[in-house]
Amino acid sequence: HPGELAAYPDQEKYLFYQTKKEQPIIAGAEGIYMWDTRGKQYLDGCSGAVVNNIGHGNRRVIAAVERQSRQTFFAYRTQFENRPSQELARQLVEHSAPHLNRVFFVSGGSEAVESAMKVCRQYFFNLGEGSRYKFVSRVPAYHGSTLGALSLTSYAPLEVAFKPLVRDNPKIPAPTCYRCVYHKQYPDCELECAWALEKTVLEQGPDNIAAFVVEPVGGASTGALVPPDEYFGIIQHICRKYGIFLVLDEVMTGFGRTGKLFAYEHWGVQADVVALSKGIASGYYPLGAILTTDEIVDVVVRRGGFAHGHTYAGNPMACAVGQEVLRVIMEDKLPENADRMGKILLKGLNRLGRKHRFIGEVRGLGLLTALELVRDPQTREPFPPEWNAAMLLTDNAFADGLLIYPRRSINGLYGDHVLVAPPLIVREAQIAELLEKLDKALTRTAD
Ligand code: PMP
Repeated sequence: HPGELAAYPDQEKYLFYQTKKEQPIIAGAEGIYMWDTRGKQYLDGCSGAVVNNIGHGNRRVIAAVERQSRQTFFAYRTQFENRPSQELARQLVEHSAPHLNRVFFVSGGSEAVESAMKVCRQYFFNLGEGSRYKFVSRVPAYHGSTLGALSLTSYAPLEVAFKPLVRDNPKIPAPTCYRCVYHKQYPDCELECAWALEKTVLEQGPDNIAAFVVEPVGGASTGALVPPDEYFGIIQHICRKYGIFLVLDEVMTGFGRTGKLFAYEHWGVQADVVALSKGIASGYYPLGAILTTDEIVDVVVRRGGFAHGHTYAGNPMACAVGQEVLRVIMEDKLPENADRMGKILLKGLNRLGRKHRFIGEVRGLGLLTALELVRDPQTREPFPPEWNAAMLLTDNAFADGLLIYPRRSINGLYGDHVLVAPPLIVREAQIAELLEKLDKALTRTAD
């Protein structure tokens, strides 16, 4: 319907979301492109919120939805088991690390993190170690918006209205090498930020800690923060030494995003629990999961099962979508494409980084990449948060038909960043188109 008003006139009357301005209305999407009702086309340079790994309008998934919808949309899990959830669980176990062989389904990322926290807590409770209730996480981090997941997150604007959060979960610095909190340089730093985990565990008392929760590559709050190569070896060593679980939040990094099916494959990390969502159903349905070990599940189910669940967990429609999405990811070799295209994208972003002074750092892995924006590239001074520099760039890109994902400078300490993370089906010519649009938006923003 070209010519239709961009915003629904009563949007603000009924809806409760934060909308920054008139939002266009989506009319269609195909591959890496989307259109609004005015007929304007957008290149989806961030896969929504790094969700749509397989691209829009995938025919195989549409057919799977139709097949499943004819059979059963919903069957309650305590009454019926369903084939799609059994089959998807089997597929996930087959494609994940050998020790990860149990699956628990949920409907989104926060639920996955919440479930990961609770499975760890119940494991220790069942063993008579209920004192192990704390979780260590990092600053900055993003793990979700439910109260448990939020208490692991570190982003003041999201937290302030909800204090006190769930207990006091201690935090350690993320490996933000570009602006090291210890004022050191890699590798001379000897990864003090990783060893901070041991220091914190000893301060808190190892017997009080359930798990360390971490994004393998930092996403929404950190902007594609790739750890130094040795980082996860140290983390794994500390977790094992003190009997603490290692929980990887792969909600954003999973399903091929970083160039491997799961980001832990880059460093051979053996997590005890992995939280998944986003790419698992690539936006075609709400779905999430945790992957964990026989040992954890055996202890948890020993006393009456996992005391946790959600009505829509493992529903047949979501799982049928997840099955087809995973087949597409594997058969079309999307992790390999993400690896190849990611390298080309990073090279192009680095070129833009040399051209535009206010790009402080370019970083990323696979097709999870980011630009950190700074006021002064010499001193690395961030933009004042009230300038909302990342949003300004995002709005300019939007005007030119390019979607990117902004995050404002955190507490004035870290720079603004934008995530650039197109669907994993992206081709080289489309990367060139993305970079051209981004270049234009950067120029406009500098002006
Ligand atoms: N963990 C990570 C790493 C995420 O990026 C997100 C979403 N941005 C979440 C958890 C929360 O997921 P959801 O919004 O689906 O609850």
